[in-house]
Amino acid sequence: MASTHDHDHANRTGAPLAVAAERALTASGEQWTAMRAAVFNALTSFDKPASAYDVTDAVSTAQGRRVAANSVYRILDLFVAKNVAMRVESANAYLANAHPDCLHDCIFLVCDTCGRATHVDDDQLSARIRETAVATGFRPEKPVIEVRGRCATCP
Ligand SMILES: [Zn+2]
Ligand SMILES: [Zn+2]
Ligand SMILES: [Zn+2]
Repeated sequence: MASTHDHDHANRTGAPLAVAAERALTASGEQWTAMRAAVFNALTSFDKPASAYDVTDAVSTAQGRRVAANSVYRILDLFVAKNVAMRVESANAYLANAHPDCLHDCIFLVCDTCGRATHVDDDQLSARIRETAVATGFRPEKPVIEVRGRCATCP
């Protein structure tokens, strides 16, 4: 699989991921509030991309009270804007970003059987897509590159 990292790239999970996410959010001038931490924890508790509804339910269960879906949506949007979470567009769902400390146009591989998503980063490929768009006069914000199919563990 192509790897084009020319920097010290780390994909993280668990506690180190939460630390990196907090660092990325606060470095952008935003606060890592208790509610934001709860949303991030809920997001990482799923083993597949989670809908905003699922995240709201998980936060509500963890807090023992019904939290407002709107505030969860706002936090998810903030996370996506700040590179702390990713949105898998074709699944209408969110994932914690395993590399909140560096920016890539992540390429998602979404399994149609189990619903899990992995991702790869290939900056050369995504740069070509951006350049192709720019060549037409288009101003690309973000390439959305998702591959549907079946993961290595599904038959
Ligand atoms: Zn990287
Ligand atoms: Zn990535
Ligand atoms: Zn699968």
